[in-house]
Amino acid sequence: MDRPRITIFDTTLRDGEQSPGCSMNVSEKLHLAQQLDRLGVDVIEAGFPIASDGDFEAVQRIAATVRRPIIAGLARACTGDVDRAWQALQGAAHPRIHVFLATSDIHLKYKLRISRERCLEQARDAVRHAKSLCSDVEFSPEDATRTDVPFLCQVVEAVIAAGATTVNIPDTVGYTMPEEYGRLIRTLREEVAGIDKVTISTHCHNDLGLAVANSLAGVQAGARQVECTINGIGERAGNASLEEIVMAMRVRPDRYPYETAVASEQLYSSSQMLAEITRVPVQPNKAITGRNAFAHEAGIHQDGILKNPLTYEIMTPQSVGVPDSRLVLGKHSGRHALALRCEQLGHHFERRELDEVYRRFVVLADRIKKVQDSHLLELIEDVSRGAVSNDDAIDSPSKKFPPATATLSFPQAISAVAGINANSNDPHPAQISGSAGQAQVRPGSPAPANWFGRAPVPPADHHSEQEDYLWGV
Ligand SMILES: [Zn+2]
Repeated sequence: MDRPRITIFDTTLRDGEQSPGCSMNVSEKLHLAQQLDRLGVDVIEAGFPIASDGDFEAVQRIAATVRRPIIAGLARACTGDVDRAWQALQGAAHPRIHVFLATSDIHLKYKLRISRERCLEQARDAVRHAKSLCSDVEFSPEDATRTDVPFLCQVVEAVIAAGATTVNIPDTVGYTMPEEYGRLIRTLREEVAGIDKVTISTHCHNDLGLAVANSLAGVQAGARQVECTINGIGERAGNASLEEIVMAMRVRPDRYPYETAVASEQLYSSSQMLAEITRVPVQPNKAITGRNAFAHEAGIHQDGILKNPLTYEIMTPQSVGVPDSRLVLGKHSGRHALALRCEQLGHHFERRELDEVYRRFVVLADRIKKVQDSHLLELIEDVSRGAVSNDDAIDSPSKKFPPATATLSFPQAISAVAGINANSNDPHPAQISGSAGQAQVRPGSPAPANWFGRAPVPPADHHSEQEDYLWGV
């Protein structure tokens, strides 16, 4: 029997960007959107067009450039927002307008200062207007999990009648519990007329660390779209992590018999690219993409892994794109191996750029025997910044690179798969890192030039320009 297909709606560029310190400029968003396309997400929420000119431009450029996935633009439930979103989405091959309006009494009373009746009317009118422009309309009743359930049913029924094709049920404040969230989705399926004609979506925040568990409970209860972000970034404690959702379904099809179109081997490079763009490192023990996620340091674990990886590994590092450090990069490595490792680290080069990276790589490899990912990333950063390649820079590796290291033994190599150094005697633990995109991000240090050759742009300050409720859902 075919497994139900789950739509992966990535909101890294919208909700994710609302994380403190995670603002991105237009070029960075476009670059990440192209990686999300390679990753195989179904929907990219590219931004909130009315929030700022930068957001508008980002949505517009992504819509014009990234043609396979649906491109969504967020809008409050009012004509001006919906029109602005539609304007930004004009060039999209598959546009979606995503309208939201808070429905919980606490939001209606203190934030919007409107009655339930007015809320119902506004939601219906905004969806009807969006539908007159675009056939694909999503509606989110913000703070749904703290909304009176009969009223939530009433709103959902009204927006479906007005033409919504996806109804998203946000746990905006990360308050719900898996069993409770599943029951809410089931209730909607039982009580709301017309709900079988639309896709039900989850959007869970991680304030109690339950975003992924809640999303999965929603799917088990009948939701067929999951909203999530790379590395789980998002407002406050973040959103449901895309990589965790996808791999939970892939590793446990017995419990979660669902399909996604995500190319899981692109997960690690997506995570690295985001960390590098935002300069917000991935926590080392982050599931799936943290540098320790596949590290085995304890002797008994290493012994087990050597005898059979299944003893301690529920998925292979390769399945999520963690570079196989057993494939040693040294001076005998060819251009192809170098290009492959660069891609695994989230860098796709034109031929001329690769030539320059390769030229410097060979000089370096001649000196330090084994080039670690951290060295490679520093080198890429230099090339991207257009740093002068003088002999001084490369002839003095001691400041930047550790001295020559012997090829790792197999147990060490296993640890190195995810970038940790199993040898506690190593004098350069901080530099030996398979995820140097993270190692290079040091809070408080001067921001480096980013990897596509431009000086970093100060974070956009549009948050402060907007009313708080702009940033809901
Ligand atoms: Zn959110």
